[in-house]
Amino acid sequence: MTRQLGHRLCDRCADTITNYCPSVETLAVIGAFHEQGEQAVVDEIVRREGIDPAIVWEYFRHRMIPICKQKIAHCSFCGGQLRTWKARQCMHCLKDWH
Ligand SMILES: [Zn+2]
Ligand SMILES: [Zn+2]
Repeated sequence: MTRQLGHRLCDRCADTITNYCPSVETLAVIGAFHEQGEQAVVDEIVRREGIDPAIVWEYFRHRMIPICKQKIAHCSFCGGQLRTWKARQCMHCLKDWH
């Protein structure tokens, strides 16, 4: 069975990235691989889940240890910087536009 991998927008950079996320079981064991470096972590996820390495890297770079550039958004009421580009509430003027 082919796993359907959809897409989502990255919470940080707003790029379209894979919706893929390793299983809870994989995430539980993967911690031990971090000290061996990123390649070891990705290799282990690929080995355990049979996912294309390119997809695992996409997940890794945007969500596991995010290095993508954070998209900056500003409040349209006070101009203050929002916590994330997806934020619907301003922590400066406390306006809320849900
Ligand atoms: Zn990203
Ligand atoms: Zn504001």
